[in-house]
Amino acid sequence: MTGYCCTQSACIYGVWDSSIHQCKHLSKENDIGQRICLISKDILEAEKMKGEPYPMFDSGCSSTLFNTARDEVIKKLTKKEVVMKRNICHPADLGKSSG
Ligand code: SF4
Repeated sequence: MTGYCCTQSACIYGVWDSSIHQCKHLSKENDIGQRICLISKDILEAEKMKGEPYPMFDSGCSSTLFNTARDEVIKKLTKKEVVMKRNICHPADLGKSSG
């Protein structure tokens, strides 16, 4: 996830930190801009105990329009995937000499 929504307002489990303008449970970005909810396991466990799931995880991004953070992550993921595919050699090429 990009954590975009968590920089707009906190969910019912979150705590808004106005000094950094995001939920205090949102992680820092990884190398491609993805972020995670640091209490997601606790939230999933709480939902399981309640028996009334709040479908906020694993249901896809609900803010796809004008979400530049999401667009950037998709761009970087796509670029990374292309690079990975270029670096993977086909099994048929194994054992062939390049010279
Ligand atoms: S608790 Fe997690 S999912 Fe909810 S706003 Fe905070 S970081 Fe986002």
